[in-house]
Amino acid sequence: MIEKPSAPTVQYAATARDLTKAFGRGDNQVHALRGVNLHLPAGRFTAIMGPSGSGKSTLMHCLAGLDQATSGEVTVDGVRLVDMDDTALTRFRRERIGFVFQSFNLLPMLTAAQNIRLPLELAGRRVGRAEQERFDEVTSVLGITDRLDHLPSELSGGQQQRVAIARALVTRPAIVFADEPTGNLDSTASTEVLDFLRTSVRELGQTVVMVTHELDAAAYADDVVVIADGRVRNHLVDPGREALVAELAGRAA
Ligand code: ADP
Repeated sequence: MIEKPSAPTVQYAATARDLTKAFGRGDNQVHALRGVNLHLPAGRFTAIMGPSGSGKSTLMHCLAGLDQATSGEVTVDGVRLVDMDDTALTRFRRERIGFVFQSFNLLPMLTAAQNIRLPLELAGRRVGRAEQERFDEVTSVLGITDRLDHLPSELSGGQQQRVAIARALVTRPAIVFADEPTGNLDSTASTEVLDFLRTSVRELGQTVVMVTHELDAAAYADDVVVIADGRVRNHLVDPGREALVAELAGRAA
């Protein structure tokens, strides 16, 4: 009898190998990423944290295929982004990656429900039974079922961000990138949104990667990647708040 190989296969939602990114030329050149190596496991809530200017957004843009690295390699859902041309990459992003932005980015003339369904329509997917079930699931988990007929202007900031999260989740993407998702919210709405991001990982099995410069936001994540000067300074697995504070205090020391 042939035995199955016993080596565990860790599934990564995204990886980066020797990633560098330079902006500009000559004396004005800025090295935003200086050789990032990273493995982001599926089904976890990971925060990418670091001070302003450390390279977090650049890293997220390269991981999400929104910007091209100067050198190195990114995989998302097991696919090398560099192997895709622009058309394939756009399609891949639409189908396999969800985005949540600081400024919500909802279309003002569409209701919440229409905003949430938009990625399905853009992908040319008919809203059949499976899609409707997913829609019901994410809107219920996010507690916005009674807000679906409202326009964004009729919703609070926290509610708008929950609609944006539902929109990111509805296609069942391999990974959701959230860029400073609480940046425009007060502390009560921030707590809610972070709770919902965590719930989407726990209850829907989603992979979420959040860029933040706030310790309080990072403390909601399972794992925290600490970025400094364009490099990964530490990748903390289940650190808890105290270890996170200690890590950041270490930097200040
Ligand atoms: P963070 O998200 O941690 O604030 P960024 O990734 O935005 O950091 O920026 C990292 C560095 O790269 C900074 O020095 C920033 O000024 C520079 N940078 C980012 N984007 C550009 C750009 N489009 N052109 C030139 N420099 C840039």
